[in-house]
Amino acid sequence: MKQPVFDAVIVGAGIVGATLAAILGKAGKRIALIEANATPSFDAESEFDLRVSAINRASQESFEAAGVWSKILSKRAHAYDSMHVWDEGGSGEINFSASEVGAANLGHIIENSVIQSSLMEQVIKEQSVEVFCPSRVVALSEVERSKIVTLDSGEQLQTCLMIGADGPSSVVRELVGIDVEREDYGQKGLVATVKSEHGHKDTAWQRFLPGGPLALLPLNNGFSSIVWSLPADRASRLLRLTDQEFCRQLAEASEYRIGAMTEIGKRAAFPLSGSQATSYVRPGVALIGDAAHTIHPLAGQGVNLGIKDAVVLADILLSQSVRDWGSYKQLRRYERARKGENFVAMKVMEGFKHLFGHDVEFVKIARNTGLNVFNSVPQVKQQIMRSAMGL
Ligand SMILES: Cc1cc2nc3c(=O)[nH]c(=O)nc-3n(C[C@H](O)[C@H](O)[C@H](O)COP(=O)(O)OP(=O)(O)OC[C@H]3O[C@@H](n4cnc5c(N)ncnc54)[C@H](O)[C@@H]3O)c2cc1C
Repeated sequence: MKQPVFDAVIVGAGIVGATLAAILGKAGKRIALIEANATPSFDAESEFDLRVSAINRASQESFEAAGVWSKILSKRAHAYDSMHVWDEGGSGEINFSASEVGAANLGHIIENSVIQSSLMEQVIKEQSVEVFCPSRVVALSEVERSKIVTLDSGEQLQTCLMIGADGPSSVVRELVGIDVEREDYGQKGLVATVKSEHGHKDTAWQRFLPGGPLALLPLNNGFSSIVWSLPADRASRLLRLTDQEFCRQLAEASEYRIGAMTEIGKRAAFPLSGSQATSYVRPGVALIGDAAHTIHPLAGQGVNLGIKDAVVLADILLSQSVRDWGSYKQLRRYERARKGENFVAMKVMEGFKHLFGHDVEFVKIARNTGLNVFNSVPQVKQQIMRSAMGL
């Protein structure tokens, strides 16, 4: 049996797991990174990836520290300086502008494949990181205080810390018997890339509709990436429409704020649920990112929260005082730092979802008044913006 000793085995090289591998690799730690699927590649001539993320300032700073931000910018990323949010059921609206908080932008819209390929380029450069890809974790056992991680190739890796960054259906979570509390929202997030008549004006547009929010996020060359949260059956029907009819319904749903849709690429839909692992850690095990929690995408915070998990866990592991990376006491410090914030974020998103999903006249009046009041109080707006930017 081949048993190299790793400081940590990270399962999953999505954005969150690869971020942690880049940070720990940069610090010279011996890391195994296991990923089931081939790393997405980037080609400047290619169409936009269907999956994009609104990356906030805090995540940008983490990418800078990990040495990947310049790689991301050299590929494809679009800064947005304004956000406009409005309600279908009334006259309420709120506008956010980067200048109100003295910033150059509110964040960047970046294709997931651009972020992942940049992270993997960085990780592969780190001599202390060994990447196993494509490879799956299939079993876990323990010898004294070490974990033995078995891959589908039969290869076994020895470590004192296994990190589950393997997404919402985490195998690591299952292997160590951590439960997850999940609320299925009965919605799907329909994603597509479109070009519109009037362009996006470097603005992220979000309209709250009774079935769920519609976001139009600005990309390069005047394209926008849409995330349209809808009841699952309506999403399936919209997927089956012709391009022309879909574009018509999308332009109507966005009240023609960026005009008619003139081009559209592929469409896909992802089920939406909110979840929280009952615990983020066990002795010698930690969960990060979607393996630990998922939230509604309406404020584009899911991956930003996951990146923060990776940064906080890395800070604890790399602090001088921590010698044993599998120590439950140290891992609990990570859980205490992150579980509460992630839970609050999930509940706030659910609150927005319910509030804007209500069709009762009284609720509609109250939320529209609320939006307009917030829009007229600069201090409140600044606080919301700073929080969304992760500052
Ligand atoms: C429609 C939609 C829009 C969204 N928009 C935004 C947004 O704008 N901003 C934002 O912050 N968030 C957004 N999110 C949320 C965001 O996409 C997720 O929070 C984020 O992708 C989670 O990253 P992750 O690395 O934790 O997990 P994942 O991206 O799920 O990565 C997990 C990785 O683990 C691998 N894996 C799984 N099992 C194994 C195994 N057994 N062995 C080895 N590897 C394994 C998988 O192949 C995968 O690569 C959105 C989500 C949806 C559904």
